[in-house]
Amino acid sequence: MGRGRDDAEGDRMSGQEERPATRLVTAGRRKAWTQGIVNPPVWRASTVLFDSVADLRAASAAPDDNLYYGRRGTPTQWALADALTTLEPGGAGTMLYPSGVAAVAGAMLSVLSPGDELLMVDSAYEPTRAFCRTVLKPMGITTRFYDPLIGAGIAELIGPNTRALFLESPGSLTFEVQDVPALCAAAKARGLVTLLDNTWATPLLFPAIAHGVDLSILACTKYVVGHSDTMLGSVTANAACFPRLRQVAQSLGQYVSPDDAFLALRGLRTMGVRLRQHEAGGLAVASWLAEQPEVAAVLHPALPGCPGHDLWRRDFAGASGLFAFVLDGGSDAARTALIDGLRHFGIGFSWGGYESLALPIDPTPIRSATRWTAAGPAVRLHIGLEDPADLIDDLAEGLARFRKAR
Ligand SMILES: *Cc1c(COP(=O)(O)O)cnc(C)c1O
Repeated sequence: MGRGRDDAEGDRMSGQEERPATRLVTAGRRKAWTQGIVNPPVWRASTVLFDSVADLRAASAAPDDNLYYGRRGTPTQWALADALTTLEPGGAGTMLYPSGVAAVAGAMLSVLSPGDELLMVDSAYEPTRAFCRTVLKPMGITTRFYDPLIGAGIAELIGPNTRALFLESPGSLTFEVQDVPALCAAAKARGLVTLLDNTWATPLLFPAIAHGVDLSILACTKYVVGHSDTMLGSVTANAACFPRLRQVAQSLGQYVSPDDAFLALRGLRTMGVRLRQHEAGGLAVASWLAEQPEVAAVLHPALPGCPGHDLWRRDFAGASGLFAFVLDGGSDAARTALIDGLRHFGIGFSWGGYESLALPIDPTPIRSATRWTAAGPAVRLHIGLEDPADLIDDLAEGLARFRKAR
């Protein structure tokens, strides 16, 4: 059983030319891997048995193209990786990781070496910053943080040792939309590699490699899995960056279980319809919040008040269900009164599942290159697949509790 070019049914390059909704249905479903079953089965393996020493040697000569050893995956993981590549026009291959953070780390380690400098967006996911501090810095790799809205001005920050530019758009917690094409063009002109954490949009709403990015990172834990029950990450790379990405992932022993890959593939098939519902619900709730007197600002890329909103309109095919709002004054206790009594919003980390979540956020101590100033405490919401009218009723009661506790 092979995963190489001979299995023409799933030919990737032609797959990337179909429209995204069709790709979500067909991607990764090679007959050689499924034997005709609709969903690629869960293939669990460590040892793979060969018929002879000659067969073992032949497999060792091409370990990425055939069943070889469990750590290199089975058709279940191959199908997920192949599907994610098919969804990313310009992608040459995808590596899977046991979490989104592991994917961020694997991507960075594949492009950086001691002595290099990394340019990191100031609105990055906090554990991404932590990786720079706790792993890259002791390795002799320095990190310089930049304003998410810097655009082509990034050129002035590129020095002789700068090797890579990391983007996240929209940013975690604060949702600044970056000028990805301008940043990537400036980086490319100076020979830098570009990496983007594309978890908020997924390739359906923002095809990252087509916009100039070299390595596109997803916390599949969020919208790909979509059901809040599995941790997984992926990095899809263009042809120039994929061989080194794969080499480093294999050397680090990165591996995901076939059960988790199966759940991610199952989630992927409905990601398009789920995202449309998350977008509609999110816009309904965000627009309502924008009109409430207790709300000072709504940070939703599709609303005009969000930094980079025009770039979102120019570059994105839609919005997902995650955004934040800032209260007009009020204490932490008043914000807590708002959140604690919510009936339809869970209180917890992560997002991207079918259920709604509310989280108190304070971006101030996380920033270093820019300053986060706001009129009051802030709340991040993930809008799930519930009826938005119920969510709005719930938030209206929450704002009443906030007024009382203020
Ligand atoms: C959640 C998240 C991650 C990390 O994903 P995990 O699977 O939780 O490790 C990375 N980037 C962004 C933007 C995220 O929201």
